Amino acid sequence: MLNQRTVVIFGASGDLSSRLLLPGLGSLLAGPRATSVRIIGTGRSPLAPDEWTGRVQAAFGHDLSPAAAETLATTQYVAGDPTDPAHLRALLELAGPAPVLYFSLPPAVTTAIVQTLQGIDLPAGTELAFEKPFGTDAASAAELNKLVGTLVPEENVHRVDHFLGRTAVLNLIGLRFANRLFEPVWNAEHIESIEIVYDETLGLEGRAQYYDNAGALVDMIQSHLLLVLALLAMDAPATMDAVEVRSEMARALRSTQLYGSTPEASRRARYTAGGSVPSYADEAGVDPGRETETLAEVTVEVDTNRWAGVPITLRSGKALGVARKEIVVKFKPLRHLPSGLHGSRDGETLRIGLNPGELSLSVPALGVDGPYTMGQVFLDATLPSSPVLPYGEVLNGILRGDPLLSVRGDVAERCWEIVEPVLDAWRSGEVPLEEYEAGSDGPSHWASFAQNIDKVK
Ligand code: NDP
Repeated sequence: MLNQRTVVIFGASGDLSSRLLLPGLGSLLAGPRATSVRIIGTGRSPLAPDEWTGRVQAAFGHDLSPAAAETLATTQYVAGDPTDPAHLRALLELAGPAPVLYFSLPPAVTTAIVQTLQGIDLPAGTELAFEKPFGTDAASAAELNKLVGTLVPEENVHRVDHFLGRTAVLNLIGLRFANRLFEPVWNAEHIESIEIVYDETLGLEGRAQYYDNAGALVDMIQSHLLLVLALLAMDAPATMDAVEVRSEMARALRSTQLYGSTPEASRRARYTAGGSVPSYADEAGVDPGRETETLAEVTVEVDTNRWAGVPITLRSGKALGVARKEIVVKFKPLRHLPSGLHGSRDGETLRIGLNPGELSLSVPALGVDGPYTMGQVFLDATLPSSPVLPYGEVLNGILRGDPLLSVRGDVAERCWEIVEPVLDAWRSGEVPLEEYEAGSDGPSHWASFAQNIDKVK
């Protein structure tokens, strides 16, 4: 077991801390990779000790492992203004050597703390963990990177994106680089198109304050789905070391650009009322004039020898009829079929579920409509899923000082750069805001996606 590590959670009274961070840590502490962790929660809210401990206990559950019991017994909450230098100094004093400072705060507050920390010496080995969004555009992300870089070295900076902790996303590495069936054909010579889709059936769920300012493009595509794309498109790293893997991811994203002209490469839409879901524009806290999209689609290409010419479509939306969360890799049909074979000429389609990790490969085979008629058969499997939640997986790296699953600074900036032309085109009205009924498959003429929906299990 590692030496005990102290994690200071800023914004500990908030939603992310209770709903994702602490349960993620609990899932890590319950298993064989448990380490000794002390948590200091902090925020302006005056939480009584019992109230804080109760939240940690609720997140960990009742059947506590020895490591979780130790964390629960030693945790404390310290109320205070996180931008006050005296409060920060007191927290650092309490935390001791090599703390993890986890910023689970609105981004503007995090930036204010980073500015305040410029005047404070951080202990050697301090790790800084930042929630998304990291900046609000490429320029602000670069600015924040510069500030953070004066505090600790890049390898001690963890820009968190919990998609990188999802078993199904991590499994892309195994599926691709340890697989003779896929790796040799993982290129433009054999692949026709790729879709990375994260559709939710849930609507706004009361998160207007955040979501109405972000929208589907920034909330999902700018961060999570571009990182999935990086793992899907990158070349094989020499080793699983953070330096190697993150360099390959960065290289893939540096080559990523919109597929075609800006207006053609994107679509956006907003849901109207459907079933029991009210129209997005009527939700409390939404400013309809802001024209926030609840469904976004962007098509990119990775302009490398491996991928040039392959459209890769990233899509995510809310209040849709089907919770499609998957990567779909469509292979090209073979150039020649023996004459005398009839029916579908479709090539293979590989579907990789992002949640909970189902894998399905449809392969051309003789079908049931006659001995020489082609059809598709499905090879289905379920990818192993880890009991450690995505946040637990990411925290495991942070606690060990390993940035493998953290977003590197240049990548955080690059993800903004890729979507900025789209955001500009949307702001200037070059791409119309379309509508779809809540509970539907999206605008009916967005056919390429609707075609795939019946194959979702
Ligand atoms: P909250 O809005 O719940 O804020 C977290 C805490 O920050 C609050 O409880 C509050 O604590 C403190 N805070 C709020 N405003 C201020 C302020 N002006 N000055 C000082 N402290 C303030 O955020 P979430 O917990 O939802 O999210 C935290 C971070 O995680 C954000 O960056 C968000 O983008 C990101 N994130 C959130 C997700 C989610 O599902 N919630 C998902 C992915 C990322 P107190 O009042 O006690 O000081």
